[in-house]
Amino acid sequence: MSNFFTLTKVPRTITASLHKLRYTRKYLKRTSTRAFTIINTFNMPEYSGSCYCKGIKYTVTLDSKDQARTSICHCGNCRKWTGSAFGITTKIPKSALRVEGKTVEHVSDNGSGTKLYREFCGTCGGGILEYGANAGENTYITYGSLDKPEELPPKGEFFCKYRQNWMPQVPNTFQKREIKE
Ligand SMILES: [Zn+2]
Ligand SMILES: [Zn+2]
Repeated sequence: MSNFFTLTKVPRTITASLHKLRYTRKYLKRTSTRAFTIINTFNMPEYSGSCYCKGIKYTVTLDSKDQARTSICHCGNCRKWTGSAFGITTKIPKSALRVEGKTVEHVSDNGSGTKLYREFCGTCGGGILEYGANAGENTYITYGSLDKPEELPPKGEFFCKYRQNWMPQVPNTFQKREIKE
């Protein structure tokens, strides 16, 4: 009889303990997931930017820094738009960008048949965005409009065949003769 009692009592205790353990684990998992999400939100890298007169401001919030890709473009089109020796933009997911203020949009065909959109400040003329019709879920912010551009250094160079002959290759970046990726 005592044997039977022991045999039935032990499994019951074990079952209860297991149940408790499972519940505790579930609870921990739930709370730690929430804690993880909160910590993650705090850790989401954020970048701010603006045009020269600050009439247009923006914020970029990424899941991770790797989502951004800064690149240099040596094509004549970028030279004309920036009025500089090359263009430099940072590719980010469209959904990561929040813009305050109304940009002026300029649409052009660069000769390749692809429409190019450029958005800038109507007051100071500072460029904010540049993207092709086939940019998909991405957009490109002008690197110089970032408040701390040094946080997103360039990863590559495009259209290197048009590089100004006085300009050296940027170290630790990839080089493409054209735009093919
Ligand atoms: Zn402006
Ligand atoms: Zn270009």
